[in-house]
Amino acid sequence: MCTNTPLCQVFGSARLRKFGQVWKTWRKSRIVSLYMDAGGKTLQQNQDALWQAVLGEIELSVSHGNFITWFKGTSLLEHSDEKIVIGVTNVFIKQTLENKYGGVIAEILAKNGLVAKRVEYKTTSSQTDKRRTDKAAETAYTPPAASPATTISAGQPAQSNLGGLTQSFRQGLNERYTLDNFVVGDSNDVAFAACQAVTVQPGTKYNPLFIYGGVGIGKTHLLQAVGNVLVARNPSAKVLYISMEQFVQEFVNALRFRKMPAFAKHYRTADALLVDDVQFIAGKEKIQEEFFHTFNTLHQANKQIVITADKPPKDIPTLEDRLRSRFNGGMSIDMQIPDFETRCAIVQAKAQSHGSNLEHEVVEYLATNIQTNIRELEGALNQLLAYCEVRGLEPNLVIASGLINVNKTRPKHLSAKQIIERTARHFQIPFEEIVGPKRDKDIVVPRQVAMYMLRNELKLSFPKIARELGRKDHTTAIHSVDKIDREARSDASLRMAISEIREHLYA
Ligand code: ADP
Ligand code: MG
Repeated sequence: MCTNTPLCQVFGSARLRKFGQVWKTWRKSRIVSLYMDAGGKTLQQNQDALWQAVLGEIELSVSHGNFITWFKGTSLLEHSDEKIVIGVTNVFIKQTLENKYGGVIAEILAKNGLVAKRVEYKTTSSQTDKRRTDKAAETAYTPPAASPATTISAGQPAQSNLGGLTQSFRQGLNERYTLDNFVVGDSNDVAFAACQAVTVQPGTKYNPLFIYGGVGIGKTHLLQAVGNVLVARNPSAKVLYISMEQFVQEFVNALRFRKMPAFAKHYRTADALLVDDVQFIAGKEKIQEEFFHTFNTLHQANKQIVITADKPPKDIPTLEDRLRSRFNGGMSIDMQIPDFETRCAIVQAKAQSHGSNLEHEVVEYLATNIQTNIRELEGALNQLLAYCEVRGLEPNLVIASGLINVNKTRPKHLSAKQIIERTARHFQIPFEEIVGPKRDKDIVVPRQVAMYMLRNELKLSFPKIARELGRKDHTTAIHSVDKIDREARSDASLRMAISEIREHLYA
């Protein structure tokens, strides 16, 4: 049982309860805004509460970096049957929300009872103020995310204990991510240890520290935690967290508003630079060039750089060689999907930090059914806790299994042919070849992946797997499945391929 393991004992302890208070406050505010009648409040307060509920859900469906970049300063300005007007702080955010996140926003608005003929985005006055300030202070550079010190995201605890820190020195950091509330297991212990080491002696040992791995497995959490520790140890240090997407956006803005020198200076004078999802730099030559210089300046000055990505440097397409070699010049760590025991410990720890003690069978149910993404696991847990709290129920297996629609992600109608087709399409080879006689490496590996998928998704027997792929000998299937299983543990790009195929299958 999970709670009898050393992991659970460690993370179910008093240390966690300390964080429980913060989480409780956050969660309460979220639950209140989600479910309670807001009678007696002003219209603006109701709108704010509604919007916080919407943001709370959006935060669960986008990456932390994206959330901070695109949603942090937003507000609900107006809503009627005719239109919903969302306030944003600049025109780039407006464009991105319209073009990229329109669907997600509409869906979550509707879930929260906000339906209208159209959704509009309006730049609010803080942007006008900002432009004015921009003009006045040509040399001063204020990154967009730090400028509107207004809305605290639904996922963030109140920032009351920021002490005397200026916003810009804590840019992008969210106190909710700490090393203490990160659950350590076999899949992430190396990354955790390296992060710890970096906080003890920044800029010396592992520089840069490059952490890569799939989606929702805790990379941003660790990166943010490093930032929080560095700021706690040295409150005057300029610790900058930025997602590469945001860096790109700021770069474009800086070019447009002729603030390149200030932009460059801002990042080149950091004491520590934490860059999330660096893969977004792929194919952007000018940005690679700027980032290269930033990197060199900081590195030469022994300033700590920590980078995360969804794949190792060698697999990031169109990455300049000089950057690739810089990224490889320190310590690279492959983070993996947490195993069952760690997932149990995470669920238990998160539940306890919400003030709830779940039965083992509920913890295990969640950890069994949501395997690949801790963000999803957390979302499912939050959903369960919110559901039970509102109704005054104790979470149990029946409620959990009713609420988490496992069949949604594992439809039974999936056929072997669909899996093979999808795998072939992923590797851009014809169906006839993957099931055909050719033994070229380009075909053999996809074929092995297809066998692995058939085994994992459909639990087919080895003889059946062999037959589906046109092989006579079932030992080929045994070896293939075993090989992919082993290699996926150490090869992030293979894991990505598998999870992409899986995502398409269940989309
Ligand atoms: P990634 O950046 O790898 O996509 P995140 O760091 O955003 O993933 O993690 C997704 C969610 O899962 C976050 O809320 C994070 O706190 C949580 N999480 C992931 N791994 C752990 C862990 N080992 N312990 C505690 N929480 C975790
Ligand atoms: Mg992330």
